[in-house]
Amino acid sequence: MDNTKIPKPTIKRLAVYHRCLENMVISGVASVSSNDLAERLGIKASQVRKDLSYFGEFGKRGVGYSTKHLLDSISEILGIRKKWKTCIVGMGNLGMALANYPGLENSGFIAKALFDNNPNKIGIPMPNDLVIESTEVLEEIVKKRQIEIGVITVPANAAQIIADLLANAGVTGIVNFAPIRLTLPPGISNEEIDISVSFRSLAFNMTFGSSRKGRRA
Ligand code: ATP
Repeated sequence: MDNTKIPKPTIKRLAVYHRCLENMVISGVASVSSNDLAERLGIKASQVRKDLSYFGEFGKRGVGYSTKHLLDSISEILGIRKKWKTCIVGMGNLGMALANYPGLENSGFIAKALFDNNPNKIGIPMPNDLVIESTEVLEEIVKKRQIEIGVITVPANAAQIIADLLANAGVTGIVNFAPIRLTLPPGISNEEIDISVSFRSLAFNMTFGSSRKGRRA
């Protein structure tokens, strides 16, 4: 659809609908009608229907919409980048660095929980009002906070256990910093980041790469 055809006042209202729908999704409200939305926002249902008619199928009177679907469509129209809820498991040096790195949040990856199994680390306050929590409560917290992405920064020998824990808890994406290939159930996207591989690849190119060939002894 052509976003430029939507009048400015409608866009403004869409932003208000967006905020309201976000809260509804967080509260687990699965479907919403134009009447619901109008009531929550104190505006006319006919206005909501008119605004939503820009989405074609959403404009139908009396039909409830999937809250999540409507939110996604409005996000797309508004060009709002999706925010992903993440958790980091393994608050060693790497986990700590990631938790303190504002670039992740700026890219839309918001840490909602930080976990470790070391009793000395549990309870340590962290940025964004988080504290390090025990992996014993990981499943419960991931479900409750609707965390979608798990970042694994535990040592290799613990990574598969953590991946299983995250998968059971319902994450649909894993970023694995541990130097081990994980076995994951279908439907979970997995990104492996092994920093040492990049360094080794660089070392190879520096040693044998054509651009500088002959400059080394
Ligand atoms: P530190 O020495 O502070 O633990 P590190 O980066 O050297 O830092 P690693 O041995 O790489 O530590 O472990 C990373 C983190 O993963 C540590 O905080 C450790 O307590 C945690 N960890 C290890 N095994 C598990 C596990 N099974 N579940 C949760 N966290 C774990």
